[in-house]
Amino acid sequence: MELLVAGAAGIGIRLRAEHVDQFRRYYEEITEWNRRVNLTSITGWEEVQTGHFLDSLTARLALSPAHLESGRLLDLGAGAGLPGVAVKIVFPGVRLALLEATAKKTAFLSHLCDVLGLHDVEVFTGRAEDVAHDSSMREEFDMVLARGVARMSVLAELALPFCRLGGVVVAYKKADVGVELARASRAIETMGGRLREVVEVPSDVVGEPRSLVVIEKCSSTPARYPRRPGTPKKRPLEDG
Ligand code: SAH
Repeated sequence: MELLVAGAAGIGIRLRAEHVDQFRRYYEEITEWNRRVNLTSITGWEEVQTGHFLDSLTARLALSPAHLESGRLLDLGAGAGLPGVAVKIVFPGVRLALLEATAKKTAFLSHLCDVLGLHDVEVFTGRAEDVAHDSSMREEFDMVLARGVARMSVLAELALPFCRLGGVVVAYKKADVGVELARASRAIETMGGRLREVVEVPSDVVGEPRSLVVIEKCSSTPARYPRRPGTPKKRPLEDG
């Protein structure tokens, strides 16, 4: 756990013994379930500490302390629970919703939150394109996090509808997001968003440079978005 503890300290998070225990248990559950459900291709202990857990926690660099204390957070396309569950372990006041299209993965997520003893967590099986039209989910979240789900133009359409005015979408990206971002400007604007900043995560944190794209929600998303499942990806709102 040294890697995770030292790395977290480097981004201003002091992990306590109970956090460390929870991350260890999390790793054991991933390893066990990964035999039957394809959760992740990263399985080594050291790689998971940095490439998954620590990478997830870099959200701390992009989110306000007030939101991390008690805000409502959606992890869109949560997969094995990253970044959402990692953030919830360290910031237990966050009210977490995990949305994932694959039922086998949500079965894992429910089990995981159970064994980790996490409270105030909801797990939803479904596609963002459908769930975002549900009034109990639409424009309800202070923070929408997504890692490894879609390119920015597509993600804007999937994620911004969940975000309340004044809230933020944070997309975990590799370094050099310039071109991807430029292509996404029309989609971001159409969904009522505006690029706030790109937080550069230095390579010494997770072993490679990363970027957190922070988009704030400025106006309501028109009711027709997101379009039907698959359409945002097939026909992204991109110029050129
Ligand atoms: N966030 C995790 C998983 C990334 S893989 C991580 O970083 O490790 C992307 C995940 O998003 C997959 O599990 C996939 O099933 C889910 N996903 C992709 N498109 C989705 C959509 N439109 N709605 C809900 N989940 C989606």
